[in-house]
Amino acid sequence: MDLRTSESRQRLLDRRDTLRTLAKASRPPPDELTLTERQRRRVEQEQLEHVEAALARMAAGTYGTCAVCGDAIDRPRLRVIPQARACFACASLAPDGG
Ligand SMILES: [Zn+2]
Repeated sequence: MDLRTSESRQRLLDRRDTLRTLAKASRPPPDELTLTERQRRRVEQEQLEHVEAALARMAAGTYGTCAVCGDAIDRPRLRVIPQARACFACASLAPDGG
């Protein structure tokens, strides 16, 4: 694992901790939540899943490789979005932004 990958890994771990803390924080039961709050929770849950998937790819040695075309994902893209699973070209075509 090179230095840049370990930087990405640390950022992913920090992000995961933040998202897990948010998920555990005491909140009103779902039926009392506003739509916006439910949307926010869903987005946080999705982000957590993406972060955990990126950490799993690191463990598997496939981190930084586009899941769609198999090319290497640009380093600048990984710096901005460490959990990115697709290169910029593929992500711009994907409905969820890769
Ligand atoms: Zn690609």
